[in-house]
Amino acid sequence: MLTLFGVGVGSGIAIGRAVVSGPGGGEVAEFTVDAGAVEGEVRRFNAAVARARDSLARLQKEIPRDAPPEVAGFLEAHLLMLNDPVLCDGPPQIIRRRRANAEHALRIHASRLADTFDAMQDDYLRGKKNDIRQVVERVHGELQKGGAGGGLRHTDRGSIVVADDLSPADTVLLKSKPVAAFATNLGGPISHTAILARGLGIPAVVGLRGAARYIQNGDLLVVDGKRGLLIVAPDEKTVEEYRARRARIAERRKSLAALRGAESVTADGAAVALLANIELPEEIAAAREGGAAGVGLYRTEFLFMNRAAPPGEEEQFRAYAAVVRDIARPVTIRTLDLGADKQVDGGRVLFGEGGATVTNPALGRRAVRLCLSEPALFKPQLRAILRASAHGTVEMMIPMMSGTGELEQILALVREARAELQREGIAFDPAMRIGGMIEVPAAAVTADLFARKLDFLSIGTNDLIQYTLAIDRVDDEVNYLYDPLHPSVLRLIRNTITAGRAAGIPVTMCGEMAGDPDHTRLLLGLGLRAFSMEPSALPEIKRIVRQTSIKALTQAVDQIMAEPEPEKIREQVAALAAPGENAGLH
Ligand code: PEP
Ligand code: MG
Repeated sequence: MLTLFGVGVGSGIAIGRAVVSGPGGGEVAEFTVDAGAVEGEVRRFNAAVARARDSLARLQKEIPRDAPPEVAGFLEAHLLMLNDPVLCDGPPQIIRRRRANAEHALRIHASRLADTFDAMQDDYLRGKKNDIRQVVERVHGELQKGGAGGGLRHTDRGSIVVADDLSPADTVLLKSKPVAAFATNLGGPISHTAILARGLGIPAVVGLRGAARYIQNGDLLVVDGKRGLLIVAPDEKTVEEYRARRARIAERRKSLAALRGAESVTADGAAVALLANIELPEEIAAAREGGAAGVGLYRTEFLFMNRAAPPGEEEQFRAYAAVVRDIARPVTIRTLDLGADKQVDGGRVLFGEGGATVTNPALGRRAVRLCLSEPALFKPQLRAILRASAHGTVEMMIPMMSGTGELEQILALVREARAELQREGIAFDPAMRIGGMIEVPAAAVTADLFARKLDFLSIGTNDLIQYTLAIDRVDDEVNYLYDPLHPSVLRLIRNTITAGRAAGIPVTMCGEMAGDPDHTRLLLGLGLRAFSMEPSALPEIKRIVRQTSIKALTQAVDQIMAEPEPEKIREQVAALAAPGENAGLH
Protein backbone atom coordinates (compact mmCIF):
# COMPACT_ATOMS: atom_id res chain seq x y z
CA MET A 1 0.00 0.00 0.00
CA LEU A 2 1.32 3.41 -0.96
CA THR A 3 -0.25 6.77 -0.22
CA LEU A 4 0.42 9.63 -2.63
CA PHE A 5 -0.46 13.28 -2.07
CA GLY A 6 -1.77 15.81 -4.56
CA VAL A 7 -4.46 18.45 -4.86
CA GLY A 8 -7.91 17.06 -4.09
CA VAL A 9 -10.83 17.90 -6.33
CA GLY A 10 -14.46 17.23 -5.47
CA SER A 11 -15.45 15.87 -2.11
CA GLY A 12 -16.18 12.30 -3.16
CA ILE A 13 -14.38 9.00 -2.84
CA ALA A 14 -13.74 6.48 -5.59
CA ILE A 15 -12.42 2.94 -5.39
CA GLY A 16 -11.51 1.30 -8.67
CA ARG A 17 -8.87 -0.14 -10.98
CA ALA A 18 -6.31 2.09 -12.66
CA VAL A 19 -6.34 2.67 -16.39
CA VAL A 20 -3.04 4.29 -17.20
CA SER A 21 -3.35 6.60 -20.17
CA GLY A 22 -0.38 6.55 -22.52
CA PRO A 23 2.15 3.78 -23.13
CA GLY A 24 1.40 0.77 -20.96
CA GLY A 25 -2.37 1.02 -21.24
CA GLY A 26 -4.37 -1.17 -23.53
CA GLU A 27 -5.65 -4.67 -24.02
CA VAL A 28 -3.66 -7.90 -24.18
CA ALA A 29 -3.30 -9.37 -27.65
CA GLU A 30 -3.34 -13.21 -27.80
CA PHE A 31 -1.80 -15.05 -30.73
CA THR A 32 0.36 -18.04 -31.65
CA VAL A 33 3.88 -17.28 -32.82
CA ASP A 34 5.52 -19.17 -35.70
CA ALA A 35 7.69 -22.10 -34.60
CA GLY A 36 10.79 -20.33 -35.90
CA ALA A 37 9.97 -17.17 -33.95
CA VAL A 38 9.61 -18.76 -30.52
CA GLU A 39 13.13 -18.05 -29.30
CA GLY A 40 12.84 -14.48 -30.56
CA GLU A 41 9.68 -14.11 -28.49
CA VAL A 42 11.49 -15.40 -25.40
CA ARG A 43 14.26 -12.87 -26.03
CA ARG A 44 11.63 -10.13 -26.39
CA PHE A 45 10.18 -11.14 -23.01
CA ASN A 46 13.59 -11.21 -21.30
CA ALA A 47 14.47 -7.83 -22.78
CA ALA A 48 11.22 -6.35 -21.44
CA VAL A 49 12.04 -7.68 -17.95
CA ALA A 50 15.50 -6.15 -18.20
CA ARG A 51 14.04 -2.79 -19.25
CA ALA A 52 11.52 -2.93 -16.41
CA ARG A 53 14.40 -3.56 -13.98
CA ASP A 54 16.34 -0.62 -15.45
CA SER A 55 13.38 1.69 -15.21
CA LEU A 56 12.76 0.73 -11.58
CA ALA A 57 16.44 1.19 -10.77
CA ARG A 58 16.29 4.62 -12.40
CA LEU A 59 13.18 5.50 -10.42
CA GLN A 60 14.98 4.41 -7.27
CA LYS A 61 17.80 6.84 -7.98
CA GLU A 62 15.41 9.67 -8.73
CA ILE A 63 13.16 9.42 -5.67
CA PRO A 64 12.40 13.06 -4.85
CA ARG A 65 13.44 14.22 -1.41
CA ASP A 66 9.84 15.00 -0.44
CA ALA A 67 8.49 11.59 -1.54
CA PRO A 68 6.74 9.51 1.16
CA PRO A 69 9.21 7.14 2.90
CA GLU A 70 7.32 4.02 1.73
CA VAL A 71 8.25 4.78 -1.89
CA ALA A 72 11.78 3.39 -1.46
CA GLY A 73 10.51 0.13 0.07
CA PHE A 74 7.87 -0.20 -2.61
CA LEU A 75 10.41 0.07 -5.44
CA GLU A 76 12.89 -2.23 -3.68
CA ALA A 77 10.25 -4.95 -3.31
CA HIS A 78 9.35 -4.70 -6.99
CA LEU A 79 12.98 -4.91 -8.08
CA LEU A 80 13.45 -8.06 -6.01
CA MET A 81 10.48 -9.65 -7.74
CA LEU A 82 11.88 -8.81 -11.15
CA ASN A 83 14.98 -10.78 -10.19
CA ASP A 84 12.99 -13.73 -8.85
CA PRO A 85 12.81 -16.87 -11.06
CA VAL A 86 9.30 -17.57 -9.72
CA LEU A 87 8.12 -14.59 -11.73
CA CYS A 88 10.57 -14.53 -14.62
CA ASP A 89 11.05 -18.19 -15.55
CA GLY A 90 7.39 -19.07 -16.08
CA PRO A 91 6.54 -16.98 -19.17
CA PRO A 92 9.46 -18.25 -21.33
CA GLN A 93 8.35 -21.82 -20.56
CA ILE A 94 4.80 -20.97 -21.65
CA ILE A 95 6.06 -19.26 -24.81
CA ARG A 96 8.04 -22.38 -25.73
CA ARG A 97 5.35 -24.87 -24.76
CA ARG A 98 2.30 -23.12 -26.23
CA ARG A 99 3.95 -20.83 -28.78
CA ALA A 100 2.08 -18.04 -27.02
CA ASN A 101 3.07 -14.43 -27.63
CA ALA A 102 5.01 -12.88 -24.75
CA GLU A 103 2.15 -10.67 -23.48
CA HIS A 104 -0.25 -13.59 -23.38
CA ALA A 105 2.30 -15.88 -21.71
CA LEU A 106 2.90 -13.24 -19.07
CA ARG A 107 -0.83 -13.00 -18.39
CA ILE A 108 -1.23 -16.79 -18.08
CA HIS A 109 1.66 -16.99 -15.65
CA ALA A 110 0.47 -14.00 -13.63
CA SER A 111 -2.98 -15.48 -13.27
CA ARG A 112 -1.49 -18.78 -11.99
CA LEU A 113 0.62 -16.89 -9.47
CA ALA A 114 -2.43 -14.91 -8.35
CA ASP A 115 -4.31 -18.18 -7.71
CA THR A 116 -1.41 -19.49 -5.64
CA PHE A 117 -1.37 -16.33 -3.53
CA ASP A 118 -5.14 -16.41 -3.11
CA ALA A 119 -4.87 -19.87 -1.60
CA MET A 120 -2.40 -18.70 1.06
CA GLN A 121 -3.55 -18.52 4.68
CA ASP A 122 -1.19 -15.74 5.66
CA ASP A 123 -2.79 -12.24 5.20
CA TYR A 124 0.57 -10.61 4.62
CA LEU A 125 1.56 -13.01 1.86
CA ARG A 126 -1.89 -12.78 0.32
CA GLY A 127 -1.43 -9.00 0.21
CA LYS A 128 1.69 -9.50 -1.91
CA LYS A 129 -0.53 -10.48 -4.83
CA ASN A 130 -1.00 -6.79 -5.60
CA ASP A 131 2.74 -6.26 -5.83
CA ILE A 132 3.06 -9.15 -8.27
CA ARG A 133 0.34 -7.70 -10.44
CA GLN A 134 2.00 -4.29 -10.47
CA VAL A 135 5.31 -5.81 -11.52
CA VAL A 136 3.56 -7.81 -14.22
CA GLU A 137 1.97 -4.61 -15.53
CA ARG A 138 5.32 -2.92 -15.64
CA VAL A 139 6.77 -5.73 -17.76
CA HIS A 140 3.65 -5.71 -19.90
CA GLY A 141 4.08 -1.96 -20.40
CA GLU A 142 7.64 -2.56 -21.58
CA LEU A 143 6.47 -5.26 -23.99
CA GLN A 144 3.94 -2.89 -25.46
CA LYS A 145 6.24 0.10 -25.79
CA GLY A 146 5.76 1.48 -29.24
CA GLY A 147 2.47 -0.39 -29.62
CA ALA A 148 -1.03 0.97 -29.25
CA GLY A 149 -1.36 2.42 -25.75
CA GLY A 150 -4.00 5.05 -25.30
CA GLY A 151 -5.65 3.87 -22.09
CA LEU A 152 -8.44 6.38 -22.52
CA ARG A 153 -9.91 4.26 -25.29
CA HIS A 154 -10.11 1.23 -23.02
CA THR A 155 -11.69 2.67 -19.92
CA ASP A 156 -14.25 0.42 -18.27
CA ARG A 157 -17.15 1.51 -16.13
CA GLY A 158 -15.85 2.47 -12.70
CA SER A 159 -12.18 2.64 -13.66
CA ILE A 160 -9.83 5.37 -12.50
CA VAL A 161 -7.93 7.15 -15.23
CA VAL A 162 -4.29 7.87 -14.39
CA ALA A 163 -2.43 10.23 -16.69
CA ASP A 164 0.41 12.65 -16.77
CA ASP A 165 -2.11 15.32 -17.68
CA LEU A 166 -5.49 15.48 -19.33
CA SER A 167 -6.16 18.26 -21.77
CA PRO A 168 -9.60 19.86 -21.90
CA ALA A 169 -10.05 17.96 -25.19
CA ASP A 170 -9.34 14.63 -23.39
CA THR A 171 -11.82 15.59 -20.76
CA VAL A 172 -14.56 15.95 -23.35
CA LEU A 173 -13.89 12.31 -24.34
CA LEU A 174 -14.08 11.29 -20.70
CA LYS A 175 -17.52 12.81 -20.39
CA SER A 176 -18.93 9.98 -22.45
CA LYS A 177 -17.15 7.32 -20.36
CA PRO A 178 -18.39 6.41 -16.92
CA VAL A 179 -15.04 6.68 -15.14
CA ALA A 180 -15.07 6.78 -11.34
CA ALA A 181 -12.22 9.25 -10.85
CA PHE A 182 -8.94 10.41 -12.24
CA ALA A 183 -5.47 11.18 -11.06
CA THR A 184 -2.89 13.31 -12.86
CA ASN A 185 0.70 14.36 -12.31
CA LEU A 186 0.02 17.90 -13.50
CA GLY A 187 -2.73 20.43 -12.85
CA GLY A 188 -3.87 22.69 -10.05
CA PRO A 189 -7.18 23.29 -8.28
CA ILE A 190 -8.61 25.51 -11.03
CA SER A 191 -7.07 23.82 -14.06
CA HIS A 192 -9.68 22.81 -16.58
CA THR A 193 -8.96 19.17 -15.68
CA ALA A 194 -10.06 19.85 -12.11
CA ILE A 195 -13.09 21.80 -13.31
CA LEU A 196 -14.10 18.86 -15.46
CA ALA A 197 -13.90 16.47 -12.49
CA ARG A 198 -16.25 18.71 -10.57
CA GLY A 199 -18.52 18.92 -13.60
CA LEU A 200 -18.67 15.15 -13.81
CA GLY A 201 -19.38 15.00 -10.10
CA ILE A 202 -16.43 12.65 -9.60
CA PRO A 203 -13.41 12.99 -7.32
CA ALA A 204 -9.90 13.53 -8.62
CA VAL A 205 -6.41 14.10 -7.37
CA VAL A 206 -4.33 16.36 -9.59
CA GLY A 207 -0.81 17.77 -9.22
CA LEU A 208 0.66 14.43 -8.08
CA ARG A 209 3.99 15.76 -9.38
CA GLY A 210 5.33 12.60 -10.93
CA ALA A 211 3.93 10.25 -8.31
CA ALA A 212 1.52 8.73 -10.84
CA ARG A 213 4.45 6.87 -12.38
CA TYR A 214 4.30 4.43 -9.46
CA ILE A 215 0.91 3.25 -10.69
CA GLN A 216 0.38 0.38 -13.11
CA ASN A 217 -2.60 -0.63 -15.20
CA GLY A 218 -5.09 -2.58 -13.11
CA ASP A 219 -3.84 -1.40 -9.70
CA LEU A 220 -6.56 -1.03 -7.14
CA LEU A 221 -6.77 2.65 -6.20
CA VAL A 222 -8.62 4.77 -3.70
CA VAL A 223 -9.12 8.43 -4.67
CA ASP A 224 -9.98 10.75 -1.81
CA GLY A 225 -10.93 14.06 -3.45
CA LYS A 226 -11.46 15.90 -0.19
CA ARG A 227 -8.05 15.17 1.31
CA GLY A 228 -6.14 14.99 -1.99
CA LEU A 229 -4.98 11.40 -1.35
CA LEU A 230 -4.38 8.62 -3.82
CA ILE A 231 -3.90 5.22 -2.21
CA VAL A 232 -2.25 2.57 -4.39
CA ALA A 233 -2.93 -1.12 -3.66
CA PRO A 234 -4.82 -0.44 -0.41
CA ASP A 235 -5.18 -3.23 2.15
CA GLU A 236 -8.59 -4.73 2.99
CA LYS A 237 -9.06 -2.58 6.09
CA THR A 238 -8.42 0.66 4.20
CA VAL A 239 -10.81 -0.35 1.44
CA GLU A 240 -13.49 -1.11 4.04
CA GLU A 241 -13.02 2.28 5.73
CA TYR A 242 -13.30 4.08 2.43
CA ARG A 243 -16.35 2.07 1.40
CA ALA A 244 -18.05 3.20 4.60
CA ARG A 245 -17.11 6.84 3.96
CA ARG A 246 -18.32 6.60 0.38
CA ALA A 247 -21.67 5.27 1.63
CA ARG A 248 -22.00 8.18 4.09
CA ILE A 249 -21.32 10.71 1.30
CA ALA A 250 -23.95 9.04 -0.91
CA GLU A 251 -26.45 9.25 1.97
CA ARG A 252 -25.74 12.95 2.39
CA ARG A 253 -26.15 13.59 -1.33
CA LYS A 254 -29.48 11.81 -1.26
CA SER A 255 -30.73 13.97 1.60
CA LEU A 256 -29.56 17.12 -0.24
CA ALA A 257 -31.42 16.06 -3.38
CA ALA A 258 -34.65 16.66 -1.47
CA LEU A 259 -33.83 20.39 -1.71
CA ARG A 260 -34.11 20.34 -5.50
CA GLY A 261 -37.52 21.94 -5.66
CA ALA A 262 -37.01 24.21 -2.64
CA GLU A 263 -36.81 27.97 -3.19
CA SER A 264 -33.36 29.51 -3.27
CA VAL A 265 -33.88 32.26 -0.76
CA THR A 266 -31.99 33.24 2.38
CA ALA A 267 -33.46 32.93 5.87
CA ASP A 268 -34.14 36.69 5.78
CA GLY A 269 -35.87 36.59 2.42
CA ALA A 270 -33.24 37.57 -0.19
CA ALA A 271 -33.62 35.71 -3.48
CA VAL A 272 -30.39 34.12 -4.69
CA ALA A 273 -30.09 32.77 -8.25
CA LEU A 274 -28.35 29.39 -8.38
CA LEU A 275 -27.30 28.56 -11.93
CA ALA A 276 -25.37 25.80 -13.67
CA ASN A 277 -22.11 25.81 -15.61
CA ILE A 278 -22.17 23.42 -18.57
CA GLU A 279 -19.70 22.45 -21.25
CA LEU A 280 -21.76 20.20 -23.49
CA PRO A 281 -25.48 20.14 -24.35
CA GLU A 282 -25.84 16.70 -22.68
CA GLU A 283 -25.16 18.29 -19.31
CA ILE A 284 -28.54 19.98 -19.22
CA ALA A 285 -29.95 16.86 -17.50
CA ALA A 286 -27.49 17.30 -14.61
CA ALA A 287 -28.33 21.02 -14.40
CA ARG A 288 -32.00 20.20 -14.16
CA GLU A 289 -31.37 17.48 -11.60
CA GLY A 290 -29.41 19.95 -9.46
CA GLY A 291 -32.38 22.32 -9.52
CA ALA A 292 -30.59 25.05 -11.52
CA ALA A 293 -32.60 28.19 -12.24
CA GLY A 294 -30.86 28.36 -15.60
CA VAL A 295 -27.43 28.10 -17.19
CA GLY A 296 -25.08 30.82 -15.97
CA LEU A 297 -22.15 29.71 -18.10
CA TYR A 298 -22.22 27.60 -21.25
CA ARG A 299 -18.57 27.06 -22.22
CA THR A 300 -19.04 26.80 -26.00
CA GLU A 301 -15.39 26.07 -26.79
CA PHE A 302 -15.93 22.38 -25.98
CA LEU A 303 -18.06 22.13 -29.11
CA PHE A 304 -14.91 22.96 -31.08
CA MET A 305 -12.69 20.19 -29.67
CA ASN A 306 -11.77 16.72 -30.96
CA ARG A 307 -12.55 17.55 -34.57
CA ALA A 308 -10.64 18.63 -37.63
CA ALA A 309 -12.59 21.80 -38.48
CA PRO A 310 -14.63 24.21 -36.35
CA PRO A 311 -18.42 23.78 -36.38
CA GLY A 312 -20.21 26.11 -38.78
CA GLU A 313 -23.04 28.53 -37.98
CA GLU A 314 -25.79 25.97 -38.60
CA GLU A 315 -24.28 23.29 -36.36
CA GLN A 316 -23.66 25.81 -33.60
CA PHE A 317 -27.17 27.21 -33.91
CA ARG A 318 -28.64 23.72 -33.57
CA ALA A 319 -26.53 22.94 -30.48
CA TYR A 320 -27.34 26.25 -28.75
CA ALA A 321 -31.04 26.17 -29.61
CA ALA A 322 -31.29 22.58 -28.32
CA VAL A 323 -29.84 23.65 -24.96
CA VAL A 324 -32.17 26.63 -24.74
CA ARG A 325 -35.26 24.57 -25.58
CA ASP A 326 -34.18 21.66 -23.40
CA ILE A 327 -33.77 23.59 -20.16
CA ALA A 328 -36.56 26.11 -20.91
CA ARG A 329 -34.86 28.57 -18.57
CA PRO A 330 -32.42 31.44 -19.21
CA VAL A 331 -29.13 30.34 -20.77
CA THR A 332 -25.97 32.44 -20.77
CA ILE A 333 -23.92 31.42 -23.79
CA ARG A 334 -20.30 32.43 -23.54
CA THR A 335 -18.55 33.29 -26.77
CA LEU A 336 -15.47 31.25 -27.66
CA ASP A 337 -12.81 31.11 -24.98
CA LEU A 338 -10.24 29.15 -26.96
CA GLY A 339 -6.52 29.56 -26.50
CA ALA A 340 -4.25 29.15 -23.46
CA ASP A 341 -4.78 25.55 -22.28
CA LYS A 342 -7.91 25.13 -24.41
CA GLN A 343 -6.48 24.33 -27.81
CA VAL A 344 -8.20 22.52 -30.65
CA ASP A 345 -6.80 20.05 -33.13
CA GLY A 346 -3.20 20.71 -32.18
CA GLY A 347 -3.71 24.45 -32.50
CA ARG A 348 -4.48 24.34 -36.23
CA VAL A 349 -7.72 26.24 -35.98
CA LEU A 350 -6.05 28.89 -33.90
CA PHE A 351 -2.75 29.41 -35.50
CA GLY A 352 -2.99 28.14 -39.05
CA GLU A 353 -0.78 25.40 -40.51
CA GLY A 354 2.75 25.72 -39.18
CA GLY A 355 1.76 28.67 -36.98
CA ALA A 356 4.24 30.22 -34.58
CA THR A 357 4.82 28.72 -31.15
CA VAL A 358 3.29 30.85 -28.43
CA THR A 359 5.62 31.64 -25.57
CA ASN A 360 2.99 32.20 -22.91
CA PRO A 361 -0.44 31.11 -24.12
CA ALA A 362 -2.25 32.17 -20.92
CA LEU A 363 -1.24 35.75 -21.69
CA GLY A 364 -1.55 35.35 -25.43
CA ARG A 365 -4.16 35.36 -28.17
CA ARG A 366 -6.95 33.82 -26.18
CA ALA A 367 -10.75 34.28 -26.14
CA VAL A 368 -11.83 37.74 -27.41
CA ARG A 369 -8.33 38.48 -28.64
CA LEU A 370 -8.49 35.43 -30.89
CA CYS A 371 -12.11 36.05 -31.91
CA LEU A 372 -11.46 39.66 -32.89
CA SER A 373 -8.48 38.66 -34.98
CA GLU A 374 -10.35 35.78 -36.68
CA PRO A 375 -13.77 37.15 -37.73
CA ALA A 376 -14.30 34.06 -39.93
CA LEU A 377 -14.28 32.00 -36.73
CA PHE A 378 -16.24 34.49 -34.61
CA LYS A 379 -18.97 35.82 -36.86
CA PRO A 380 -20.73 32.45 -37.36
CA GLN A 381 -20.85 32.05 -33.59
CA LEU A 382 -22.40 35.48 -33.05
CA ARG A 383 -25.04 34.71 -35.66
CA ALA A 384 -25.70 31.27 -34.17
CA ILE A 385 -26.17 32.70 -30.66
CA LEU A 386 -28.48 35.44 -31.97
CA ARG A 387 -30.53 32.85 -33.87
CA ALA A 388 -30.78 30.65 -30.73
CA SER A 389 -32.21 33.67 -28.87
CA ALA A 390 -35.42 33.23 -30.89
CA HIS A 391 -35.97 29.90 -29.09
CA GLY A 392 -35.92 31.01 -25.45
CA THR A 393 -34.19 33.40 -23.08
CA VAL A 394 -30.58 33.72 -24.21
CA GLU A 395 -27.87 35.98 -22.87
CA MET A 396 -24.53 36.35 -24.58
CA MET A 397 -21.40 36.64 -22.46
CA ILE A 398 -17.97 37.81 -23.56
CA PRO A 399 -14.88 36.38 -21.84
CA MET A 400 -11.49 37.82 -21.00
CA MET A 401 -11.86 41.46 -21.92
CA SER A 402 -9.16 43.73 -20.56
CA GLY A 403 -10.44 47.04 -21.89
CA THR A 404 -13.70 48.57 -23.11
CA GLY A 405 -12.15 49.02 -26.55
CA GLU A 406 -12.48 45.25 -27.09
CA LEU A 407 -16.07 45.45 -25.93
CA GLU A 408 -16.84 48.24 -28.43
CA GLN A 409 -15.43 46.14 -31.27
CA ILE A 410 -17.53 43.15 -30.26
CA LEU A 411 -20.67 45.23 -29.91
CA ALA A 412 -20.06 46.56 -33.42
CA LEU A 413 -19.78 43.00 -34.75
CA VAL A 414 -23.01 42.06 -32.94
CA ARG A 415 -24.77 45.04 -34.56
CA GLU A 416 -23.48 43.87 -37.91
CA ALA A 417 -24.71 40.31 -37.32
CA ARG A 418 -28.13 41.58 -36.27
CA ALA A 419 -28.43 43.73 -39.39
CA GLU A 420 -27.48 40.75 -41.58
CA LEU A 421 -30.03 38.45 -39.96
CA GLN A 422 -32.68 41.11 -40.28
CA ARG A 423 -31.93 41.54 -43.97
CA GLU A 424 -32.06 37.77 -44.43
CA GLY A 425 -35.38 37.58 -42.58
CA ILE A 426 -33.96 35.20 -39.91
CA ALA A 427 -35.52 35.38 -36.44
CA PHE A 428 -33.60 36.53 -33.34
CA ASP A 429 -34.40 38.32 -30.10
CA PRO A 430 -33.51 42.01 -30.63
CA ALA A 431 -33.45 42.50 -26.84
CA MET A 432 -30.93 39.70 -26.15
CA ARG A 433 -28.86 40.84 -23.20
CA ILE A 434 -25.09 41.07 -23.52
CA GLY A 435 -22.79 40.69 -20.54
CA GLY A 436 -19.10 40.44 -19.91
CA MET A 437 -16.88 38.31 -17.78
CA ILE A 438 -14.78 40.13 -15.26
CA GLU A 439 -11.74 37.87 -15.09
CA VAL A 440 -8.80 40.08 -15.95
CA PRO A 441 -7.67 42.39 -13.11
CA ALA A 442 -7.77 45.38 -15.49
CA ALA A 443 -11.48 44.74 -16.05
CA ALA A 444 -12.17 44.24 -12.33
CA VAL A 445 -10.48 47.53 -11.44
CA THR A 446 -12.51 49.33 -14.13
CA ALA A 447 -15.71 47.30 -13.64
CA ASP A 448 -17.68 50.59 -13.51
CA LEU A 449 -16.63 51.37 -17.10
CA PHE A 450 -17.76 47.95 -18.31
CA ALA A 451 -20.98 48.16 -16.28
CA ARG A 452 -22.03 51.28 -18.21
CA LYS A 453 -21.96 49.43 -21.51
CA LEU A 454 -23.20 45.96 -20.53
CA ASP A 455 -26.42 44.34 -19.32
CA PHE A 456 -24.69 42.18 -16.69
CA LEU A 457 -21.29 41.23 -15.32
CA SER A 458 -20.05 37.77 -14.38
CA ILE A 459 -16.97 37.27 -12.23
CA GLY A 460 -14.66 34.52 -13.49
CA THR A 461 -12.63 33.84 -10.39
CA ASN A 462 -10.54 31.09 -11.99
CA ASP A 463 -8.85 33.52 -14.32
CA LEU A 464 -9.18 36.51 -12.02
CA ILE A 465 -7.13 34.65 -9.41
CA GLN A 466 -4.64 33.38 -12.00
CA TYR A 467 -4.00 36.82 -13.45
CA THR A 468 -4.14 38.78 -10.19
CA LEU A 469 -1.69 36.51 -8.38
CA ALA A 470 0.42 35.87 -11.52
CA ILE A 471 0.10 32.08 -11.27
CA ASP A 472 -0.60 30.03 -14.37
CA ARG A 473 -3.62 27.96 -13.43
CA VAL A 474 -2.24 24.81 -15.06
CA ASP A 475 1.22 25.06 -13.51
CA ASP A 476 1.38 22.74 -10.52
CA GLU A 477 4.69 24.28 -9.42
CA VAL A 478 2.95 27.46 -8.35
CA ASN A 479 -0.49 26.30 -7.39
CA TYR A 480 0.43 26.63 -3.70
CA LEU A 481 -0.06 30.37 -4.28
CA TYR A 482 -3.65 29.88 -5.42
CA ASP A 483 -5.75 31.77 -2.92
CA PRO A 484 -9.32 32.94 -3.50
CA LEU A 485 -9.14 34.77 -0.16
CA HIS A 486 -6.12 36.89 -1.06
CA PRO A 487 -7.07 40.48 -0.12
CA SER A 488 -6.40 41.62 -3.70
CA VAL A 489 -8.89 39.06 -5.06
CA LEU A 490 -11.52 39.91 -2.44
CA ARG A 491 -11.19 43.62 -3.19
CA LEU A 492 -11.57 43.04 -6.93
CA ILE A 493 -14.66 40.93 -6.30
CA ARG A 494 -16.16 43.59 -4.05
CA ASN A 495 -15.31 46.32 -6.54
CA THR A 496 -17.10 44.42 -9.31
CA ILE A 497 -20.21 43.79 -7.22
CA THR A 498 -20.32 47.44 -6.16
CA ALA A 499 -19.92 48.62 -9.76
CA GLY A 500 -22.76 46.39 -10.92
CA ARG A 501 -25.02 47.63 -8.16
CA ALA A 502 -24.23 51.28 -8.88
CA ALA A 503 -25.09 50.75 -12.55
CA GLY A 504 -28.23 48.79 -11.66
CA ILE A 505 -27.16 45.61 -13.47
CA PRO A 506 -26.87 42.07 -12.07
CA VAL A 507 -23.53 40.55 -11.11
CA THR A 508 -23.05 36.77 -11.24
CA MET A 509 -20.03 34.71 -10.28
CA CYS A 510 -19.25 31.68 -12.48
CA GLY A 511 -15.72 30.71 -11.37
CA GLU A 512 -15.10 27.71 -9.09
CA MET A 513 -15.31 29.94 -6.02
CA ALA A 514 -19.07 30.26 -6.58
CA GLY A 515 -19.55 26.53 -6.00
CA ASP A 516 -17.31 26.28 -2.93
CA PRO A 517 -19.46 25.94 0.21
CA ASP A 518 -16.64 27.43 2.29
CA HIS A 519 -17.13 30.76 0.50
CA THR A 520 -20.89 31.04 0.06
CA ARG A 521 -21.55 33.18 3.12
CA LEU A 522 -18.61 35.47 2.44
CA LEU A 523 -19.91 36.10 -1.09
CA LEU A 524 -23.47 36.65 0.11
CA GLY A 525 -22.09 39.15 2.62
CA LEU A 526 -20.21 40.91 -0.18
CA GLY A 527 -23.54 41.38 -1.95
CA LEU A 528 -23.43 38.57 -4.54
CA ARG A 529 -26.91 37.32 -5.43
CA ALA A 530 -26.25 35.03 -8.40
CA PHE A 531 -23.93 31.99 -8.31
CA SER A 532 -23.18 29.72 -11.28
CA MET A 533 -21.42 26.40 -10.67
CA GLU A 534 -20.99 22.77 -11.64
CA PRO A 535 -24.45 21.19 -11.30
CA SER A 536 -23.31 18.72 -8.63
CA ALA A 537 -22.48 21.61 -6.27
CA LEU A 538 -25.95 23.21 -6.46
CA PRO A 539 -27.81 21.36 -3.65
CA GLU A 540 -25.15 22.02 -1.01
CA ILE A 541 -24.95 25.73 -1.88
CA LYS A 542 -28.75 25.98 -1.76
CA ARG A 543 -28.74 24.43 1.71
CA ILE A 544 -26.31 27.11 2.91
CA VAL A 545 -28.24 29.94 1.25
CA ARG A 546 -31.47 28.84 2.94
CA GLN A 547 -29.78 28.69 6.35
CA THR A 548 -28.14 32.10 6.09
CA SER A 549 -29.40 35.43 7.25
CA ILE A 550 -27.58 38.10 5.26
CA LYS A 551 -28.18 40.82 7.83
CA ALA A 552 -26.18 38.83 10.36
CA LEU A 553 -23.24 38.58 7.94
CA THR A 554 -22.55 42.21 7.14
CA GLN A 555 -20.44 43.02 10.19
CA ALA A 556 -18.32 39.86 9.95
CA VAL A 557 -17.69 40.45 6.24
CA ASP A 558 -16.70 44.12 6.85
CA GLN A 559 -14.24 42.85 9.42
CA ILE A 560 -12.80 40.29 6.96
CA MET A 561 -12.33 42.99 4.33
CA ALA A 562 -10.47 45.18 6.82
CA GLU A 563 -8.27 42.34 8.12
CA PRO A 564 -4.62 42.66 7.04
CA GLU A 565 -3.39 39.17 8.08
CA PRO A 566 -4.03 36.36 5.54
CA GLU A 567 -4.19 33.72 8.29
CA LYS A 568 -6.80 35.71 10.20
CA ILE A 569 -8.83 36.19 7.00
CA ARG A 570 -8.83 32.42 6.54
CA GLU A 571 -9.88 31.83 10.15
CA GLN A 572 -12.68 34.38 9.97
CA VAL A 573 -14.00 33.02 6.66
CA ALA A 574 -13.91 29.49 8.12
CA ALA A 575 -15.85 30.69 11.19
CA LEU A 576 -18.39 32.31 8.88
CA ALA A 577 -18.78 29.11 6.88
CA ALA A 578 -18.93 26.61 9.75
CA PRO A 579 -22.57 25.78 10.35
CA GLY A 580 -23.70 25.83 13.97
CA GLU A 581 -20.62 27.55 15.29
CA ASN A 582 -21.93 31.08 14.72
CA ALA A 583 -25.26 31.11 16.48
CA GLY A 584 -26.25 34.50 15.08
CA LEU A 585 -26.10 33.37 11.49
CA HIS A 586 -28.91 30.85 11.36
C1 PEP B 1 -13.27 31.61 -14.90
O1 PEP B 1 -12.22 32.00 -15.40
O2 PEP B 1 -13.54 31.74 -13.68
C2 PEP B 1 -14.28 30.93 -15.72
C3 PEP B 1 -15.47 30.65 -15.25
O3 PEP B 1 -13.95 30.58 -16.99
P1 PEP B 1 -12.97 29.36 -17.40
O4 PEP B 1 -12.74 28.54 -16.15
O5 PEP B 1 -13.65 28.62 -18.47
O6 PEP B 1 -11.76 30.08 -17.84
MG1 MG C 1 -12.08 32.18 -17.50
